[in-house]
Amino acid sequence: MRKTLRITRLLLTLGVAVMVVLEVWDRVGPRLEELPASAVTPKPLDAAFLRLTPRETAALPLATRFDMPLGSEHGALTYNARGFRIDRHLGDDLNGIGGENSDLGDPVYAAGAGRVVYAGVPSESWGRMILIAHRLPEGDELGPVVQTVYAHLASIDVRTGQAVLRGDVIGTVGNAGSAPLAHLHFEVRIGPYVNPGQGYADTPMNRVSPEKFVLARRGAEAAALNPAPQKD
Ligand SMILES: [Zn+2]
Repeated sequence: MRKTLRITRLLLTLGVAVMVVLEVWDRVGPRLEELPASAVTPKPLDAAFLRLTPRETAALPLATRFDMPLGSEHGALTYNARGFRIDRHLGDDLNGIGGENSDLGDPVYAAGAGRVVYAGVPSESWGRMILIAHRLPEGDELGPVVQTVYAHLASIDVRTGQAVLRGDVIGTVGNAGSAPLAHLHFEVRIGPYVNPGQGYADTPMNRVSPEKFVLARRGAEAAALNPAPQKD
């Protein structure tokens, strides 16, 4: 009998000791970090599997010609500070000829007729970005669909789903995140995959040189264009 009592007392003491240790651990022990916001906040657009259906592609406005998205419609009064595939860069960096931030807030034009398929901020380094999908005329070597990309914008003046005409103002030049001086990052991507987030890469992926693309589809005789500004 006394033995049973002693064992019971021992077990009770042990139980209390364990509870005290757990209580103390709970108060002063290490804590699980709270989940970072990015782990629990769904992103506004999961672009990984987003692609225009053949039906959506067929319904895109037909882009019969393209112009430069900054400066005059032929790109006069601008220069390309960093061209396609220089330093793994997959677009053109277009600037006003005033240099520095003189082009901050300048209008950005739709390079061709099309439909806005993305307008938002995919990341801090891209800043505000617009993607416009264009249906190319039958027989175009890049067809049937390309997308033009406009990034680091100060403002976005269009909405996803909106149809635009060549030359429509879609936003203004900005200097978001990785763009310390204002410029327009302009890309041409081939195909129906809508993915705003892709950045620098060693291969061209689905990109082509924007300057060459526009030049080949400008639709105006070279002689009909105003000459580019010349240095003295
Ligand atoms: Zn760029």
